[in-house]
Amino acid sequence: MTATFDVLVIGGGATGAGLLRDLSRRGLHCLLVEKGDLGSGTSGRYHGLLHSGGRYVAKDPSAARECIAENRILRRIAPACIEDTGGWFVATPHDPDDYVDGFAAACAATGVDCEERPAAELLRREPALHPGIRRAFRVPDATLEPWQLIEANLADARAHGAEAWPYRRLVGFDRRGDRLLAARIADAQGGEEQVSAACFVSATGAWAGGVAALAGAEVKMSPGKGTMLVFNERMTDTVVNRCHRPGDGDIMCPVHTVAILGTTDILVDDPDHFEITSAEVVELLAEGEKLFPGLSRRRLLRAYGGVRPLYKPPEPPEPSEAAGSVGAGGAAGAGSGGGDRAISRSHYVIDHAAADGIAGFVSIVGGKLTTYRLMAEQTADLVCRKLGLAEASTTAREVLPDQGDRRHYWLGDRLAEHEADGGGDADLICECEFVTRAGLERFLDQRWPCSLDDVRRGTRLGMGPCQGGFCTFRAAGIVAQRLATGRDAAGSGEGGIAAAADAATVGFLRERYKGGRPIAWGRQLQELWMTSGLYWGTLGVAGIPGPSRTSPDGRGTRAAR
Ligand SMILES: Cc1cc2nc3c(=O)[nH]c(=O)nc-3n(C[C@H](O)[C@H](O)[C@H](O)COP(=O)(O)OP(=O)(O)OC[C@H]3O[C@@H](n4cnc5c(N)ncnc54)[C@H](O)[C@@H]3O)c2cc1C
Repeated sequence: MTATFDVLVIGGGATGAGLLRDLSRRGLHCLLVEKGDLGSGTSGRYHGLLHSGGRYVAKDPSAARECIAENRILRRIAPACIEDTGGWFVATPHDPDDYVDGFAAACAATGVDCEERPAAELLRREPALHPGIRRAFRVPDATLEPWQLIEANLADARAHGAEAWPYRRLVGFDRRGDRLLAARIADAQGGEEQVSAACFVSATGAWAGGVAALAGAEVKMSPGKGTMLVFNERMTDTVVNRCHRPGDGDIMCPVHTVAILGTTDILVDDPDHFEITSAEVVELLAEGEKLFPGLSRRRLLRAYGGVRPLYKPPEPPEPSEAAGSVGAGGAAGAGSGGGDRAISRSHYVIDHAAADGIAGFVSIVGGKLTTYRLMAEQTADLVCRKLGLAEASTTAREVLPDQGDRRHYWLGDRLAEHEADGGGDADLICECEFVTRAGLERFLDQRWPCSLDDVRRGTRLGMGPCQGGFCTFRAAGIVAQRLATGRDAAGSGEGGIAAAADAATVGFLRERYKGGRPIAWGRQLQELWMTSGLYWGTLGVAGIPGPSRTSPDGRGTRAAR
């Protein structure tokens, strides 16, 4: 079967979702395909920061300009996705005077709002910070919820006639001469279908090299792994950055009920297979101590990693399309001396007609989540020029749907909602994140069939202190009930409902354990063993993973079972 669209967007991260929105608002009939769940790539595994641009003012000024411009736009069009925490750049005793002295001027030169405040004021507001902090600069950093943002972009795209298909992987193209005719799309059940389009756009981030190769084009990505540590409390209510040339472990972001320290930056070969090492955890904690003394003794919930879609153009990009790329904002200055921090965080729209002689194929690479909308707009401009369409982008001025009362959700809102509905027994499925049976059922109604990991992205189930220990079996039970009542009897598969519930449990806990292993020591190791015992020992679910023993100094690591 062949489906026909004007444009096929490959990749369901923030960039792909933003592009689907932009193109469909300009009147094009578009489809997006995503190999996993929507937002399960780098966009769902990032640090959480809506950049003010402050991080890039010295090293990557054009990236700084893009960030502050988009920061202002996103506050207007996506207010419910943003927690306006504000941000600080702080000079610890470890940060060089020359960088700190030039910071405010560099902000002024790039248009990043910045105000120096007395360090004593900062320490009064954020008492967990290092008492030796000597200077403090206030900037408009914030945190940005990725899945809500992606959903809102897709909702707007759907309202303009677009479709988005999760769990559909692009596996090849049909090409005649210099033109792509159709894409071959595989589903999770082994089926395959063809999609023909006038234009194909790869918004596949760190995977863009592999997707380009399927078309016979070349995109040389430099995937940069970053590891982050999640603490079980907000030791700061404001984003805190070290005031120095960007390095590892120098930003703490308060996100919902937790705080996240990040990141590292290490080149990897394959964005699907990378490891988080205890050496990275140790390094992050050592760096984090410079911001928050005693951090290593606070309770960690998990470590997680994502892969940056970094791209190094084959030659310095021209401001025009002559070399096949547009939108490239200046190359990086001298790097921080290792990893891939020397590569610009700007983005590149690659026209493969100019770069590889392949008509109707475009890749968008690089960038940041903060600049997803701009990346989408510039890519859509190129697509529209190719298709002879004069419509301009409207995404910077039209507010995204589902922005409610323009306020960011926090945990207490769910309790307030429950109380407003009469209160009483909430039938709680996840106590840590206040996910009720009703809330879970609502999500399943909208997204079924889906995995428990999809439920986590949509509801935060399993993301609190117990990391799924007490909510997984309840949620798996509800999924099994849904199968039993025949709402999707076909989904129960071989072995029946109990097997499906077990499979959901094991799949979900495996993912949670991945994040627990690199930080499995002390109280968190006890918790991992308790969860393992609950499911493996008490409930008799086969295939539950056990934690390895790892000490903070990296010694004595061994498999638990
Ligand atoms: C550790 C880390 C921290 C970061 N912190 C920040 C931050 O604080 N602020 C910020 O603004 N930015 C941050 N970034 C950068 C930001 O996360 C990324 O630039 C952004 O999320 C990329 O979005 P994307 O849509 O381009 O890529 P992705 O979100 O990766 O989307 C690409 C999608 O393509 C899909 N795909 C791949 N191949 C195929 C195929 N064959 N068929 C179908 N689908 C396919 C993938 O599954 C994936 O979902 C961070 C990045 C990392 C790694």
